[in-house]
Amino acid sequence: MTDLTSFAESLKSEKCEILINSPMSRHTSFRVGGNADIVAIPENIAALCDVIRKAEDSSLPYMVIGNGSNLLVRDCGLRGLVIKTTGMKDEIKVNGNVVSCSAGTSLTRLCNIALESSLSGLEFAYGIPGTVGGAVFMNAGAYGGEMKDVLSSVTHLTPDGRIETVDASELSLSYRKSFYSENSNYTILSAEFTLCDGNKEDIKLKMDDLMGRRKDKQPLEYPSAGSTFKRPEGYFAGALIEQCNLKGFNIRGAEVSEKHAGFVINKDNADASAILELMEHIKETVKKETGVTLEPEVRIIP
Ligand SMILES: Cc1cc2nc3c(=O)[nH]c(=O)nc-3n(C[C@H](O)[C@H](O)[C@H](O)COP(=O)(O)OP(=O)(O)OC[C@H]3O[C@@H](n4cnc5c(N)ncnc54)[C@H](O)[C@@H]3O)c2cc1C
Repeated sequence: MTDLTSFAESLKSEKCEILINSPMSRHTSFRVGGNADIVAIPENIAALCDVIRKAEDSSLPYMVIGNGSNLLVRDCGLRGLVIKTTGMKDEIKVNGNVVSCSAGTSLTRLCNIALESSLSGLEFAYGIPGTVGGAVFMNAGAYGGEMKDVLSSVTHLTPDGRIETVDASELSLSYRKSFYSENSNYTILSAEFTLCDGNKEDIKLKMDDLMGRRKDKQPLEYPSAGSTFKRPEGYFAGALIEQCNLKGFNIRGAEVSEKHAGFVINKDNADASAILELMEHIKETVKKETGVTLEPEVRIIP
């Protein structure tokens, strides 16, 4: 394993911001997590590939993240390198009905570009606080739509350093799962979406309506990672948790939201261990009282 300080120095020459011993609470929407040894924030696709190649050459463990909005990083933090894509400024290209962008593009920006171009299909994603890379990895979805419906292809970096473009039909996209969630040593570099011609006012109305519903129903005023658990077949996680009278249940600042029982929130300076304990308590209670096994949707790291 390489010496971390000299490795971090070697990255500084790239088009890449470098942070040393950076708390993951700054890089995740749950606002918890211990320090990462090094956080690299590349400026574009070329810089992202360079950083990964250097980490591979130095046998340094690395993890690529987007906006950290589906991550629960443990209090011990992360050894090696975290590569965060939110600094990527590659241009978003619109060609007829096809929109392509880098992995670090925020879904909000992508949805706004689709709106400006009168292209419909991505409205469901407006308000999901992630990047395109994170959304493809998770096959993010809401209000009846999911990435699978609009994604046409993805360009990725393979573990042996090749850049490949693959058709979305080859990516095993299903409920909150993709080829990438089963093969996390691939890095998503960019994605292409095929949308439909639409009417700008109608697209805007739908986006505003969905954002309004989020604000009404979700505890957006507190740090969280969205829905904590996946929807079990035939049920809704939030309804099961509410049925077990767990709304407002709190462990050291981690709380089952009063507004939406499907969300665990960081109500008052919780750490990751409090959130994990609460998640375990929820799982055990729901299993005991309803017989249903809940599976986390948030990715627990490491
Ligand atoms: C308030 C709130 C509301 C939410 N609502 C929804 C919702 O309606 N629907 C929904 O599906 N989700 C929702 N989420 C969860 C989350 O926003 C999504 O899962 C989102 O797609 C994650 O994107 P991200 O960029 O933050 O990814 P991260 O959380 O940073 O990463 C998620 C996973 O993707 C991997 N990854 C990220 N980028 C890359 C890349 N370029 N290459 C390879 N792997 C990569 C990471 O390693 C990690 O395993 C919500 C979260 C919050 C906080």
